[in-house]
Amino acid sequence: MKITDVRVTTVTVPLKSTIRHCVGAHWGRIVRTIVEIETDEGISGLGEMGGGGESAQMAFENLKSYLIGESPFNLEGLRFKICNPTASLYNNRTQLYAAIEFACLDIIGKKLGIPVYDILGGKIRDEVEFASYLFFSYANENATTGEVKNSQQLVESAKKLKIENGFTTHKLKGGVFHPNYELDCFLALGEAFPNDRFRYDPNATLSVTQAVEFAKATSHMRIDYLEDFTWGIDGMKKLRDLTGMQTATNTVVVNFEQLAQNVHREAIDVILLDTTFWGGIRACIKAAGVCETFQLGVAVHSSAELGIQLATMLHLGAVVPNLSNAADAHYHHLADDIILGGLMKYENGKIKVPTGPGLGIELNRDKLAQYSELYKELGGYPYDQDPKRPGWYPIVPNDRWAPII
Ligand SMILES: [Mg+2]
Repeated sequence: MKITDVRVTTVTVPLKSTIRHCVGAHWGRIVRTIVEIETDEGISGLGEMGGGGESAQMAFENLKSYLIGESPFNLEGLRFKICNPTASLYNNRTQLYAAIEFACLDIIGKKLGIPVYDILGGKIRDEVEFASYLFFSYANENATTGEVKNSQQLVESAKKLKIENGFTTHKLKGGVFHPNYELDCFLALGEAFPNDRFRYDPNATLSVTQAVEFAKATSHMRIDYLEDFTWGIDGMKKLRDLTGMQTATNTVVVNFEQLAQNVHREAIDVILLDTTFWGGIRACIKAAGVCETFQLGVAVHSSAELGIQLATMLHLGAVVPNLSNAADAHYHHLADDIILGGLMKYENGKIKVPTGPGLGIELNRDKLAQYSELYKELGGYPYDQDPKRPGWYPIVPNDRWAPII
């Protein structure tokens, strides 16, 4: 079986609102790059990567000569061909390789007539639990929906998501407003859902002092972990030592060298694995094995996914025994998807692992064309800019919080 072609399509898919984070916002939509790998046996596979737009599309186009004629089964060989660690000093292809790996696993599964989780050791759970992933957000154009900027609106949005999807773990994306203000919002969530679990993720914007104060003020809540409260492995180590609470990151442990350092430093307790950042589902499983050995917890990070990437997160969640916490997903903030059947459904806060051959999802060609056209019309957006705060940018630790208006 040989790879014969690679097709790349950039899409932009609407979100239900403009969701805010510490360096800017997702401007009412997300941009994703969809990769289709074709083979000489007529079987094709699907991959997905975040952002990038035309530059990502061109980067995949440039890899065609590396891929055509290769076997999609040759995943380890392709890893070194595309992202050899020495060559990677000059190019950053790990995320590109991840999308290619997704597509090759999809092809292998379809060829063998088995789901990806069966290639990866077999599933040990049928569904994966997710957290609610709450955001501060701007009002939509009609000005009557979408806005979350205070504790009342935050609790209302969490209640709505809980009713619709059954979440029992709530994650607040912070780092937008001053930490004292966000603390009040987070405590309001704790009061609204006394039996649920919580996590707060300010994307490393807090000083160590602010991080310790925030953590201690929430220690009466059922906290999964302190996610990237402050910058760096050493900052997080200080936070862990000063609070005695578990820490987590998707920022400073995102490769095997950093994972080794973290084992030596004992700074981070839970590693949030991202099938894109780490270079594929298989790399995440290898990392989860290291975590299992050293009694570190594992959860699944979300980089604002469409259905293809969500499928990779579900297959990962299906096979990793030490998945110690609910996964994250932006997915329920999407207004639509590009896969057949539309958006996957949550039930009791969980999504069923697809059981069809390969990744178990198929492209909706009409949706792909529709959102490719929308991308051509709207173009990209700067992830690290805020549409309502032109020219603003944060520093680390931050002192340029958003005004509460
Ligand atoms: Mg995070």
